[in-house]
Amino acid sequence: MACPFCEVNEQRHPILEKRDHVYIMPSNPRLVYGHLLIIPIRHIERPTDLRTDEQYELFDTVIELQEKILTLKPGMGCDVRQHSRPFLPESNVKVDHIHWHLLPRELDDELYLRTQIFERDVFRMLSSEEMQQEAQRLRQLFMF
Ligand SMILES: [Zn+2]
Repeated sequence: MACPFCEVNEQRHPILEKRDHVYIMPSNPRLVYGHLLIIPIRHIERPTDLRTDEQYELFDTVIELQEKILTLKPGMGCDVRQHSRPFLPESNVKVDHIHWHLLPRELDDELYLRTQIFERDVFRMLSSEEMQQEAQRLRQLFMF
């Protein structure tokens, strides 16, 4: 399968802006109105493969566009996401070429009402003892 972010079909993904190391495109398919993708121009599959100059431009672009979204109107929010899911096959909603999603968010928007409203049932408050065990497990796992 050809990489859709290396061989850009501008009918599906018009390039809104091309910088030295990243493209900015609307997401297609999109989750919410204004859903943007920030994509390294070079085919990269893991964040650790980004060169320092690519990291700087990518994160500067994420921060810049997030701020633009947040100031579109009062109360506007923005989710920033990057998925690493090697357990899923590539598809029109899963591309291995690393990319960051920026999703403009509003109170009770469609994404919240149709999916994230159910997250309330998934979150679990941990007791103090469980939290200590979790912290210890994470320290061992990540060698903090
Ligand atoms: Zn690619």
